[in-house]
Amino acid sequence: MKICFATNNSKKIEEVKAALGSNFTILSLAEIGCNEELPETGNTLDHNAFQKARYVYEKYGVDCFADDTGLEVEALSGAPGVYSGRYAGEPRSDERNIQKLIKEMNDQSNRKARFRTVIALIHGGKEHAFEGIAEGEILSEKSGSGGFGYDPLFRPIGYDKTFAELSITEKNQISHRGKAVQALARFLK
Ligand code: IMP
Repeated sequence: MKICFATNNSKKIEEVKAALGSNFTILSLAEIGCNEELPETGNTLDHNAFQKARYVYEKYGVDCFADDTGLEVEALSGAPGVYSGRYAGEPRSDERNIQKLIKEMNDQSNRKARFRTVIALIHGGKEHAFEGIAEGEILSEKSGSGGFGYDPLFRPIGYDKTFAELSITEKNQISHRGKAVQALARFLK
């Protein structure tokens, strides 16, 4: 089955291809001729995920899915949440986001956090949503060089490594996006 993953993030595409396996052919935005930034102006993950998927479906007419992810930190009342990408302002920078989070968490003893992903699917003209959550904690310094985004600061519950120290396969088994993609795959099969 061919389906477009509406994202410009090559790391996300790599993870999702690994999670979905060979039953699915994932098309990138470039492969369907879409080279523009996707709109993402809402204040919920659901809104943004559907906004991106609808944009691609309406303009390019292909079945597609889009994800939106937020890091929700308990001691920061759920921030940065839906604003995780722009936490340290524009232009978006993983490194500046990480440094800001380290600073905000400096004197916090409650380190609990979770990643939440919403996947919006438009398939045969119908809309569906899938969610995945990964619980863990925020470290006081970076560890590991894999993954992307906040991965070097996030240690999932029950592990002594951050997401940035896990292989793609290991991260997919327990991550927010991995769980949401597994739900998507169950639905599509
Ligand atoms: P978005 O889903 O691309 O809007 O992501 C929002 C923010 O969360 C960006 O700063 C991403 O780098 C970060 N992010 C998304 N997914 C992950 C992940 O799996 N690990 C770490 N950071 C992530």
